[in-house]
Amino acid sequence: MLKQVKCNLCGCEQYSIVYKTYKGDISTIQLDNYTITDNRRGLPLRIVRCSKCGLIYANPRPPVQSLIASYSKMADAAYLEEEKARRLSAQSILNQLQGFKKQGRLLDVGCATGFLLDEARKRGWEVFGVELSQWAVDYARNQLGLNGVSQTILKNAHFPSSYFDAVALVDAIEHLTDPKGTLEEIRRVLKSDGIICVNTPDISSLASKILRARWWGVKQAHLYYFTGKSLRKMLAESGFIIKKVKTHARIFSLKYWFSKIKDYNDNLYKICRFLIRNNLKNKLVRINLADQVEVYCRKMRKLKYLEELEESSYAVESEMMKVVAVLPAYNAAKTLKQTVEDIPKDAVNDIILVDDASRDATVKIARGLGLKVFVHHKNLGYGANQKTCFTKALESGADIVVMVHPDYQYDPKAIPQMLEPIKKGKADAVFGSRMMKGGALEGGMPAWKHNANILLTALENVTFGTYLTEYHSGFRAYSAKVLKSINFRLNSNGFIFDTQIIAQILLHDFKIEEVPIRTRYFDEASTVKFWPGVIYGLGILKTLLKYT
Ligand SMILES: [Zn+2]
Repeated sequence: MLKQVKCNLCGCEQYSIVYKTYKGDISTIQLDNYTITDNRRGLPLRIVRCSKCGLIYANPRPPVQSLIASYSKMADAAYLEEEKARRLSAQSILNQLQGFKKQGRLLDVGCATGFLLDEARKRGWEVFGVELSQWAVDYARNQLGLNGVSQTILKNAHFPSSYFDAVALVDAIEHLTDPKGTLEEIRRVLKSDGIICVNTPDISSLASKILRARWWGVKQAHLYYFTGKSLRKMLAESGFIIKKVKTHARIFSLKYWFSKIKDYNDNLYKICRFLIRNNLKNKLVRINLADQVEVYCRKMRKLKYLEELEESSYAVESEMMKVVAVLPAYNAAKTLKQTVEDIPKDAVNDIILVDDASRDATVKIARGLGLKVFVHHKNLGYGANQKTCFTKALESGADIVVMVHPDYQYDPKAIPQMLEPIKKGKADAVFGSRMMKGGALEGGMPAWKHNANILLTALENVTFGTYLTEYHSGFRAYSAKVLKSINFRLNSNGFIFDTQIIAQILLHDFKIEEVPIRTRYFDEASTVKFWPGVIYGLGILKTLLKYT
């Protein structure tokens, strides 16, 4: 019988359904039908999203003991066919790990036939592995002579505390029944200056959004479906700090890639087979679909109670922080009063409006509302407006600057939530995101704009190696430290300013956090129309090329 499970991250039992691929009555399904090998027919019966923390997981699922039994019996000769490619993948991970730790003791959790360990041993690492498949363990020990590989789950291996310099959890966390418990055990066996690599399919990727339940990341063997954000959260709760985030490129032979295409479209597969000559079939090809997230983390030094103490001292300090709201305005007469009225007055100390040579009554209304007003004598553009906003806010002694568009498109009532991560020292910049939790379409964002936004965001994430759900929000908060450290005055005077400032923040290693917000779309609010929107998109692509 399949079992209902609670959220592994927060323990919540409430969820909403993401995909349901099984039409019949789930409670009658036989366990024999549950497949764990890499095979498209093995779709999960139902994938759900935790109502509290957003973690996505398979529910219901087989009980732990029957999963362990299935994995132990698994043999997969096809796995060996791609040995060369798998070794190349392993090398790219080892290259990254060695950027943090040159050598030492390495543990691979779910090591399969041990190709990564074999490559690591060649580089001088002392290697250990745990793996459930008896077939794979036999291969690692007998064919490769890897005596440090045992047939067990990590907890039952009973490694000493602070034993390993590096731990790899590659293509594995999504298969675990208790990923959080496994991460906590990894934290225990890892040295204080150790490093771990975790990679897993990213269900928030563009490929997953397009293919939905048909995306190759969706299969019965996968019990968890992470996004960059939920992975980050689980790692943080298990005591890890992320040091590096990248997308993982897969390396396989053309033959293997074709077999994947065959799963989707038989005709396309035939065309590919026809076009590519036989002698090329074994050629290795590296493809980055940006749908596999890979992170490198260190152990958090601080104990939980010290962190709580620190939080309470932040609370005292944050009372004394000066918050300045800046409104970059252009022809905002109709919506300005409404926007200013909605700004929570106890959350901000000062409101500055910079007018970019509006042709309406913006300046008069702003003065009437008692705002500090600065005026450009000719129209300089949206980026130029922000430059003046930030300069004036810093001059007035701001500790945090929050930008709100006076076009009433964003809801200023969310300002306190925007400030909190900066006040608590958890982030240096906070972006209101219209793309989190699907809020934008509900708020009436036109579909073309929504889709263009997703596409550009995917490209930007690939370029910057980060995971933001949106790069184009006009609702942002920055700590004064960020604005003083980066040279925002060098940026474009136009809309591209928004993307350039993100690049600068990331280059300086500052942390960006996102907060979900609702937006309103109505005539006055649609500042970017279709064609200017296209030109804006092209400008962003140009900016991205500069940073690749
Ligand atoms: Zn949860």
